[in-house]
Amino acid sequence: MANYEAQVCVVAGGPSGLSAAVQAAEDGASVIVLEKAAAVGGAANMGMGPLGIGTRYQKQNMQDVTVEEAFNMFMEYTHYNVDARLIRRYFAQSADTIEWLEDMGVKFEGAFRYFPQSMPTWHIVKCDSGIGPRAASFMNKALYARAQELGVKFLLETPGKKILKEDGKVVGVLATDKFGNEVKISCQAAIICTGGAGSNFELIKKETGYTHGKDMFSFAIPGIMGDGLRMAWEAGADKLPVRIEQAAQIMGVEDLPGSVGNVMIQPNLLVNKFGKRFMNEDFIQNSTYLSNAISHQAEKKAFSIIDTSIARYYIKHGVENVSLVRPNPDVSDFIDGMKMARANGNEGMIIADTIEELAEQAGIDVQNLVNTVDEYNDFCMSTDEEFFKNPRYLRPIKKAPFYAARICPGGYGTVGGIRINENCEVCDKDFMPIHGLYAAGADACNIYDDSYMFLLPGNSMGFAVNTGRIAGMTAAEQVKNDK
Ligand SMILES: Cc1cc2nc3c(=O)[nH]c(=O)nc-3n(C[C@H](O)[C@H](O)[C@H](O)COP(=O)(O)OP(=O)(O)OC[C@H]3O[C@@H](n4cnc5c(N)ncnc54)[C@H](O)[C@@H]3O)c2cc1C
Repeated sequence: MANYEAQVCVVAGGPSGLSAAVQAAEDGASVIVLEKAAAVGGAANMGMGPLGIGTRYQKQNMQDVTVEEAFNMFMEYTHYNVDARLIRRYFAQSADTIEWLEDMGVKFEGAFRYFPQSMPTWHIVKCDSGIGPRAASFMNKALYARAQELGVKFLLETPGKKILKEDGKVVGVLATDKFGNEVKISCQAAIICTGGAGSNFELIKKETGYTHGKDMFSFAIPGIMGDGLRMAWEAGADKLPVRIEQAAQIMGVEDLPGSVGNVMIQPNLLVNKFGKRFMNEDFIQNSTYLSNAISHQAEKKAFSIIDTSIARYYIKHGVENVSLVRPNPDVSDFIDGMKMARANGNEGMIIADTIEELAEQAGIDVQNLVNTVDEYNDFCMSTDEEFFKNPRYLRPIKKAPFYAARICPGGYGTVGGIRINENCEVCDKDFMPIHGLYAAGADACNIYDDSYMFLLPGNSMGFAVNTGRIAGMTAAEQVKNDK
């Protein structure tokens, strides 16, 4: 068995683990990071950036968001069913964290909204290819470089397996190297940051009731199996709910041209399999609201529907609301994209010459859909008496061919499971900290109650980097005091 020694062992090198490692090392601790994959960065390598509140980017654009405002908004959203002290500390530190990242070379495009009703808290990382997915991998690279500069040792392809305790205190972490050999890290503090359980479909089914690939189409980043949750629970952590960080998905979106995603996630007509509307479509781009609303429908099915006039309008004028995840506003290949998706066997993309045919192909109640479209077209002439949709988004559905796209519940992975306090100390059932045990990021993210808080975007990566820092600070302080 290989033996290593460090004051702090960080289990995993996603944004929470990297931030924990850098902060603990900056505060004087010797640090080893165990990472299961061959590279660091975790799920955040696919994302775009963290939340910041009260940053200079917001001030520069006269869009100041204060900690007080964000805190009150957050607590109202979650009905105070979360740890207010942790939220307060996370939000209050978030602007400093943006500067801390800048100091190590991270650049930001600015502070952005995710959709019209959200606040401009999403600090998108600047990268080589402009605004878009994977930008945050540049943040991870900078964190990794800074950690190495500070002397942090990384053991890649070496997953953590077990927290070792003696007399109630953490004394080490057991891991396995890529050849299957056992590795022991002797340490005074361990920080668990393994990113939740997004690829553990059994755990997801047990904890949330969703069946991956049937009624839940969430991202499943390889290796994110709930290892840290298990390790913490075995070490005595109180078990909190594990939830899906909900974000609806267009069926087969990863193989669709961006234009199809852009057009079909506009405030179009939305119906369920009974052909009935079920929400004010103004909020369609809050993909958490959309995912929640679809989860309440029969077979968790929903369809976004437009006609040829609406398609032509978007092609000519661009979409109403540009998604920064698909920042190219050109949707001129939308119709070809729909045809291609059909040809490739995507059964969720439907093109038909009549509403009846559209309904039949989609498995929607035919007569109800005809009635809904009729009534919706009437609303377009006056007001939406059913769900009070903004009149600027009301466009009649009259001209063939008609287009529908199936939208399914989805998510970025899981959040929550380990009880922590505002110092990111892992706590037992009596809320007492387990000496030397910390958790950060998705493993410990029980701050949203039942729904991801997308009104303040960048929230989960923001939580990861900020709780990582807090855990790093507290652990470094503890090892100093233990001496
Ligand atoms: C496509 C996509 C886009 C996103 N975009 C954004 C965004 O723009 N803004 C935002 O706020 N959030 C975004 N998110 C969510 C965000 O990426 C996560 O909340 C964040 O990455 C969580 O950080 P983490 O450190 O907790 O976990 P992760 O980033 O998931 O990292 C976990 C790490 O743990 C490692 N690991 C697992 N088990 C072990 C083990 N036993 N031992 C050692 N290592 C282990 C994994 O290999 C991985 O490197 C996005 C997510 C996805 C999937």
